[in-house]
Amino acid sequence: MSIGIIGAGQLGRMMALAGYPLGMRFTFLDKTSDTPGAQVGDIVLGDFTRSDDIRRLAEQVDLLTYDVENVPVEALKSAAGDTPIHPSPALLGIAQDRLTEKQAFAEHGMATAPYRTVDSLVDLRAAIDELGMPAVLKRRQLGYDGRGQRFIRQAGDIESAWEALSGAPLILEGFVDFDREVSLIAVRNRSGEMAFYPLSDNRHEEGILRLSIAPCADRTLQTQAESQIRSLMDAFDYAGVLTVEYFEKGGELIANEMAPRVHNSGHWTIEGAATSQFENHLRGILDLPLGDTSPRGHVAMINCLGQMPALADCIRYPDVHYHDYGKAPRPRRKLGHITAVRPDRASLDSVVDELLAVVRAAEATSAEC
Ligand code: ATP
Ligand code: MG
Ligand code: MG
Repeated sequence: MSIGIIGAGQLGRMMALAGYPLGMRFTFLDKTSDTPGAQVGDIVLGDFTRSDDIRRLAEQVDLLTYDVENVPVEALKSAAGDTPIHPSPALLGIAQDRLTEKQAFAEHGMATAPYRTVDSLVDLRAAIDELGMPAVLKRRQLGYDGRGQRFIRQAGDIESAWEALSGAPLILEGFVDFDREVSLIAVRNRSGEMAFYPLSDNRHEEGILRLSIAPCADRTLQTQAESQIRSLMDAFDYAGVLTVEYFEKGGELIANEMAPRVHNSGHWTIEGAATSQFENHLRGILDLPLGDTSPRGHVAMINCLGQMPALADCIRYPDVHYHDYGKAPRPRRKLGHITAVRPDRASLDSVVDELLAVVRAAEATSAEC
């Protein structure tokens, strides 16, 4: 079975690493061969926003999937020809715009922050009058790692936020004073079988995910999230992994955004669950039986940003696993991650403290250079 992956980042690379033992082969589409995916598969050089280039990939493979969120849906559909594409391009299109994303959440019974679309400074002032401050102004499309958004805390922030982001469709969201952020990684196969990983607790620093810990929630929240996502996936006859990021506030879930793909907050599943999100994504899109999503204990995943810590400093701890994506260092860039698995939460917390110190020390050294 030959699988084409649009985009050749670390997500695609981890997908390929999960699929090789199962007898699958991978070809990536990306602009350069200096990518994590190209280290582990064939590469078609091209631009994934162009249908001609997607078509060249589609002609070489049995099935298409993607590891990026910004593939233009029309180009994708027209280029694929008879080659199946999963997950659903329809849901990908919805997730690419924070407005349609929130509308889809509402249709499936999911609460969101209050919001208003903003196309002018006049709209923005009116939206602030209605939603109050603090609030978050976001580009509706193409944001990631907190880029393309500004927090508005006081009246003096309004114009600077507008100047920073105007020129693209915007949305103003009411600020959610959340207790914590959690996400659910779900998977469905083409026949409709579904499986869900336990919710993970996600800590961000400056808009970028630093730490995910799973499992993190009681049965009530888990059941609520599962039933919402079940309804969303069934409606789109979805296949593959779908991730929903939530805010948790006072025991309630408020949906923030979704990603119709494998997700950084699910990297803990590689060594921390019976079947990884990457293998389950492949099982889902190939319509194979899904794998067990049970955690192997208490699991933490730490992102390495801008500089990798030394391998030996991390793997000297038992059941700690090191992933270097092979990317060139750049400030705050996600270069790799470290996973720790422990039988109980207290021993997990203590190894996380030690690993975070190792990771931050390496990052601080590089920042000084
Ligand atoms: P990602 O890399 O997760 O795709 P993104 O750039 O798409 O990030 P969001 O996930 O919407 O952006 O926001 C990034 C972070 O900013 C959130 O994880 C959260 O910490 C904070 N944030 C976003 N929206 C709100 C809000 N309405 N209220 C409070 N905090 C928010
Ligand atoms: Mg996002
Ligand atoms: Mg997010």
